[in-house]
Parts: sequence; C-alpha cells; structure tokens
Amino acid sequence: MHESPRAARAAMMAAARMHIAILPGDGIGPEIMTVTVEALARLDRRFALGLAFEAREVGLAALARAGNTLPDAVIDACRKADGFILGPVGHHDYPPRAEGGRNPSGELRIALDLYANIRPSRSYEGLPHYGRTPMDLVIARENTEGFYADRNMHQGSGEFMPTPDLALSVRKISAQASRRIAQVAFRLAKRRRRKVTAVHKANVLKLGEGLFLREVRAVAAQHPEVAYDEQLVDSMAAMLVRDAARYDVLVTTNMYGDILSDEAAELSGSLGLAASINAGEAHCMAQAQHGSAPDIAGKDLANPASLALSAAMLLGWLGERHGRPAFAEAQAALEAAVARLIADPATRTRDLGGALGTRAFGAALLERLA
Ligand code: ATP
Repeated sequence: MHESPRAARAAMMAAARMHIAILPGDGIGPEIMTVTVEALARLDRRFALGLAFEAREVGLAALARAGNTLPDAVIDACRKADGFILGPVGHHDYPPRAEGGRNPSGELRIALDLYANIRPSRSYEGLPHYGRTPMDLVIARENTEGFYADRNMHQGSGEFMPTPDLALSVRKISAQASRRIAQVAFRLAKRRRRKVTAVHKANVLKLGEGLFLREVRAVAAQHPEVAYDEQLVDSMAAMLVRDAARYDVLVTTNMYGDILSDEAAELSGSLGLAASINAGEAHCMAQAQHGSAPDIAGKDLANPASLALSAAMLLGWLGERHGRPAFAEAQAALEAAVARLIADPATRTRDLGGALGTRAFGAALLERLA
C-alpha cells in the first residue's frame, strides 16, 4: 500500500524533528529556563529548526512528586532526546541518596558519558570586566573523573573515613579521559586562535598530572598547526586576572576546570553570563555554569543569559552533529542578540549593574530575535 503524499510529508517532518528535553531544576532554574525556551521557540520559527520540547522534572520538584531528584525515566528521556537543557540544581539541599537525593548534574554526566565540559568566557564590548585585560577564552574541562568522589568510582565513593578523624579522597586520572578531552581542546582551538594551554600541577602530583600531560602532549604532537604550552594551575589563577587576553583554549582536569571557569566567568563580567555544554559522542547537555542561586530565586533578579547562551551552544553542537547549517545560524543570532542587550546599559540585568528583571530581559531578547 502506498503512503499518501500528506502522510509521507508528515513522516518526513517527524523524522527531521529535533527533540529537546527541558529540565528546569531548582532555585532560579525555572525562571531562567522559561526565558531560554521562549528564545528557542522564537528561533525555531525563524530558522525552521523543527524543535520539539519535552519538559521533565528534576530536583526538589521531582523529589516532591516522584520521591527522587533524578527519576530513571528522566535519564531515559535525556538519552532518547537529541539534546537537553538542565537548569541549575541545588543538590547541597537534597536528602541522602538512599532517600531520593541524586545529583542530576553529576549523574547525567556519567550516565550519558558527557566527558567534555566546554566553558567559554568572554568580555563584552561596553561591559566592564574585572580582569586587567579583555578575554575570549574557552576552558575544556574533563568531566567524568578527577576528585569528584560521587562519580569517579564504578562502585562506592572516592571518599572514605577509615577513622572518625581521618578522611581520604581518591582522585582518578586515566589516559583515555585525558586523551579525549585533549582532542576536544585541539579541535576547538583549530576553529579559534589556534592555541592550547594545558593547566596542571605536575610539580606536586607527579603521577596523576604527569599522566594527564603525557596524553595532552601526544595529542599536541598530532596538531603542529596549534601552538601549545603548559601552565601551573596556581599561576593560571593569577594570570587570568593579570592577562587573560593571552589565552585561547585551556585544557584541564575536572576540579581545576570547575574553579578556573567560575573565576574566568566572574572576571569577564558576571557569573550570570557563564554558559557551558557537557558533550560526549552521542549526547549533549546545555547547562549554565552557576548554581541555583537560592538567594535570588523567585525574585525576578536572575540573569537568564547564562542558560540562553548555553542553549545557543547546544544549537551549535546539534547543527554540527546533524549537518544542519540553520542551527549554526540560530546559534549566532541568539549570541548576537544577547551581546547587543548586554552592550546597552538600559537592557542589563542587576548582576551587570542594570535594572531589568529576568522577565523584562526575556521580553527584550524576544524583541531582538524577531
Ligand atoms: P548553589 O547552592 O546551587 O551552588 P550558590 O548560590 O551557592 O548556589 P551560585 O548559584 O553559583 O552558588 O551563585 C553564586 C552567586 O552568584 C550568588 O550570589 C548568586 O545570586 C549569583 N548568581 C548566580 N547565578 C546568577 C544569575 N544567573 N544571575 C544573577 N546572579 C547570579
């Protein structure tokens, strides 16, 4: 039996759909997610992206309804989606795991092998930055091992207490994880200013950091067109303040990347601008760099730019993965619209010294995207 042309077209449209799971999270999460999804919906219409959104609860909302901050069904939904957006989660306030407290951020990174946390920080024209120089850099942070005791073991925890007065924290560094984050860093650098800096502490942690550097150097040797150097993490913290302009792509292990990226984001203007994606071979999660900001939650004070810019990065990842140039155009349009709002003191949020609330910033963003 032959399909009717209308049924064939409907089937084609359904196949071309890009499914995005939406996980609003805790604290300011729902507020900044609303702005982000509205912006994506506007881009969807303008660039015919074929986005289909599916909202799922995680965090305290899911705990209240399902008894668990990360129900297994949500992990499945993220696995099946083409990409997903996780709002900030306040996992310090969750109950113990046995009582339903699972850290959605950490567990999704492991469950879907999202090994590359890509965290750009750039200063904006017209917006004061706190470092001595402007910056435009990206931190490629290894995302699956290191010191993260809740996720760096196959079973059990990387932290334990042999006696009540002795705590041990085990750090895991593998050749495979070091190599693949290095490959991501060099791929990124080739599209940017062609420079990679490995950030390490091999003068103290000779084995773990030595192994990390061994792998990064091997990848560097395969990319002679990219300039490569190395910097100790302590001096890197100072150099971000003194002369961040000299860096392009930083590659580093999990905890150094976490700390340096918050520093870089704040120096660039505000943590409220700090976007990121967590990417693997098959999945990608957009996630703002900051936490759930309980101090300003529900007050219409949060800057949604961080999550909107993370969603823009997700669009870029999807476009590359599926060979859809319209997604790169949509990413560029969203980034340009946010940059224009930030450049104008009249359309800045409070964290940037402006007067706009979250909702008003969202409305201004939709206007710019029209
Ligand atoms: P959590 O417990 O979830 O980590 P936190 O408040 O300890 O939350 P962050 O959420 O990272 O840590 O916030 C650090 C500071 O930055 C807070 O004062 C917060 O209000 C501010 N902040 C974070 N995100 C934003 C944002 N999107 N807009 C404005 N201010 C923000």
